[in-house]
Order: sequence, then C-alpha cells, then structure tokens
Amino acid sequence: MIANGSDGLFLPARTPCMIGRVIVMKFGGTSVGDAKSIRQVAAIVRQHLARRPVLVVSAHAGVTDELLAVAQKAPMGQADTEAIAARHRTILGELGLPTDLLDPLLDDLHDLARGLRLVGAVSNKALDLLASFGERCSARTVAAALRKEGIPATAVDAFAAGLRTDSAFGRARPLPDDGRIARNLAQVDGVPVLTGFIAADEQGNVTTLGRNGSDYSAALFGVALGVEEIQIWKDVDGVRTADPRLVPGALPIRSMSFGEVCELASFGSKVLHPAAMVPAMQRSIPLRVRSTLEPEAAGTVIEAGPVAARPPVRAIAHRAAVALLTTTSQRLVPQHAFLAKVFAELAELQCDVGPVAVADSAVTFAIEPAAADAAAARLATFAEVCIERDQAVVGVVGDPQAIASGVAAAALATLATKGIAVRCAGQGALASTFAFVVAAGALRETVALLHARFFPG
Ligand code: ADP
Ligand code: ASP
Ligand code: MG
Repeated sequence: MIANGSDGLFLPARTPCMIGRVIVMKFGGTSVGDAKSIRQVAAIVRQHLARRPVLVVSAHAGVTDELLAVAQKAPMGQADTEAIAARHRTILGELGLPTDLLDPLLDDLHDLARGLRLVGAVSNKALDLLASFGERCSARTVAAALRKEGIPATAVDAFAAGLRTDSAFGRARPLPDDGRIARNLAQVDGVPVLTGFIAADEQGNVTTLGRNGSDYSAALFGVALGVEEIQIWKDVDGVRTADPRLVPGALPIRSMSFGEVCELASFGSKVLHPAAMVPAMQRSIPLRVRSTLEPEAAGTVIEAGPVAARPPVRAIAHRAAVALLTTTSQRLVPQHAFLAKVFAELAELQCDVGPVAVADSAVTFAIEPAAADAAAARLATFAEVCIERDQAVVGVVGDPQAIASGVAAAALATLATKGIAVRCAGQGALASTFAFVVAAGALRETVALLHARFFPG
C-alpha cells in the first residue's frame, strides 16, 4: 500500500533544506472547509511561492467526525458513507473540478464501511484507516484546486512521503526520520500537498497521530525538511488571551515561547496540538499561527528563548468536556502503595489525566469522558470510585512567580464572588499554570470572569 523510498540508510537527523523548501504551510479543517476557503488557500499559497512552500492539510471541517460516526454506527448495521461522498463531490463541483476526481478513494471508503458493517465491530486499526480518508481526499482536492489556479501541485499521502509511527492506533507516536521524507519530497512535482494527521506503521498499516494531529504533522514535516518556518494557518489571527468563541474580546498575543504554548495546549486550548511544539522546539524552528481570514495579519510567532516583558498572565485555557473521577482507598491496598496502584492502572489503560488533587487516602482527577467508565471499572477492583460528568478544566497560564504569588489567589477570589465552585485546583508541574475544574455549566462565565480580571480594559 505504501510507496516510499525508504532504503534503511540512516542519514544525520537534520537534513537541511535538501529540496530547497523553505516553509511548511499547514491549513486546518476550517481553512479547507469549502470551495471558497480552498480558493482563498490558493491565493495565499500563490503569495508565498517564492518561499517554496510544502503544504499540509486537514480533512474538510467536520469530515473526521463524520467518518468516526460511521464507525460508531457499524455495529448497528448502519454504516453509510453517501453523505460524506456527496460533500466531497459538492466541493469539487464548486471548484470547477471533475466531480469524479475522488471516486477511486470514495469507492474504497464505501467498501471499507460495508466491511465494517458486516463484521459489526471496529478495531482501532480499522478506525485509523477509516479516519484517514478525510485527509487523503482533501489533499487531492486542494492539489487539484491549486493546479486549476495555475500553481503546479501534487497530493502526497504522508505515508508515501515516509512518515512512520509506532502501531499505537488512534494516537501513534512518530519514529525517527532517516532523511527519507526529504528524499521522497524532492521527487514531487510542484508544491507537495501532504495529508496531515495520518502516517503508517512499519508494517504499512495506516495510523493517526490523534485528534487535531495535523499541527503535529506540520511540525514533523518541517523538522524533516529543516525549513525556516512552520506556518499554521487557522480561522483565528493567532493565539489570543482566551478562546475567542468564549471571550469575543480576547486579545491577540504577538509572540510566545514554546513552553507557554505547550502549557496552553496541554491545559486544553484547542488552538495548537500540544505535541506540535516539541519537534519544532528541539530544532528551534519558529512556528507562526496565521489567519486565512486575515492573511496580512502578522499572527503569533512561537519561538525558543525568553519572551521580552512577559505579563503576569498570558492566557486562559479551557477544556470543555471532562469527567471528574474520585478514587477513595478502602484499605485493600496498603496506603503507601495506593497512589502508585491508581496511576499504574491508568497508565495501563493509556489514560491521560489532570489536573489531579491528592489527599491522604483519595485522589481526584479530570479524565476524558470516553475513558471514564473503563478507568472506573479498573479502579473499583480495589477502591471506591465516583464519576461526576459534565465538568470542565480551566487553566490560567502565566509567569511562574506571578502564578504562585497572587494570581492563583486572585483567580479563586474572583470566582468566589460569583459562587462558582472550584475543584481539583493546583499549579501544573511547570508552575506556569494554575489549573482547576468547574461544572461545565459554569465554564463560559468562569473564563469570562478571569479574562476580565487579568486583562482589564
Ligand atoms: P484547525 O482546524 O485550523 O486546526 P482548530 O479549530 O483546531 O483549527 O483550532 C482553532 C480554534 O481554536 C479557533 O477557532 C478558536 O476557537 C480555538 N482556540 C482555543 N483557544 C484559543 C486561543 N487561546 N487563541 C486562539 N484560538 C483559540
Ligand atoms: N482531521 C483531524 C481531526 O479532525 C486532524 C486535524 O484536523 O488536525 O482531528
Ligand atoms: Mg486543529
């Protein structure tokens, strides 16, 4: 299935601009969500041709969710891909491209859905293969749209480019590149349009890097090509002091350190995938978040090194839907081993948790709702477990000293004036975030209150 040029040779880890590509430009789901947005992408790419861009694209907005919904319906015998196929054909038609351009892929997708219906159960491996169709279709459509606008371009599946991962389907981790990505892309005619989000394991099975993973793909390709800059084009003009969907008046942030954005992302801000910072940070390649709606705006530059004159609070992050799980020891496990046992079980289930609050014989943590039942069942074998759903995580990200010496207290006092109950409160391990859990119903008010408190006027 995979056409790659891997010959097993290990070249030096950094392969500086082997094909003279200078920037990676990643366009997310909304930026390639319909024909109008894709035309706008073509106009932006045209302006950057002198910098020899490599594109990385997401699936059209919403398509990954629709593909995953197909898998959910498979056990009920209802998996159907007609609506997804129709959406792609509509976009092709509106772009003036042949509406049968994607038929070979859409036929494969149809056959896969039929197979899942017949089998009635969907493995993580099959789920990744299913999800991969979103990016594979959109890369072909975007490349064709560029060609129609007179910009030579070729769609390239990330696995054909040589992006390899382990076999942790659904959340695969990249394996080291041996220079094959740069060699493979050197063969590509015109602007390569790579699929974000997907890769393949060493056996050739399609894998995905986790939801929102196209930012991560962009960083991995940027590092593999040794580019000057990785541009992440979104529907927002950079990183703001809060999610503009919750706080319309959130302020743009012009420059941030990698560490600050990592904190923002890991405490829930959807603006960038948390792992995307790591490869770029290791190679000191600046990331720039820019807006397809306002292409002239400078956006936010994220780079290594200290950011001058940091304000005490940089931004308010949130994660909208979490469950809170409280595990209380019933003394079936000796007290000194209790916490170790709780976290060993969570590690075995590959659950990410946090924030965490620990008492003598109890531990409370936030967890993805989809993972809560499995975790609770495991922990209930040696402790009493209580799940509270419809919770949300909020993180106040800022200067570690400020967080410790007043920001945390000010945040709690502000929320207390409105009677908002705060759970699981504490500083993150890097000390630059004060994070806590509130009821989901209080999320919007909590973020707005904190934004008004820390970014007045
Ligand atoms: P893409 O599909 O391009 O990857 P996403 O929808 O994943 O885009 O991420 C962009 C969204 O992130 C924005 O529309 C915005 O609502 C949200 N967001 C969350 N926190 C922030 C923040 N601090 N600054 C800017 N946008 C944010
Ligand atoms: N299409 C994938 C998702 O929706 C990856 C991405 O958009 O970054 O999660
Ligand atoms: Mg995203």
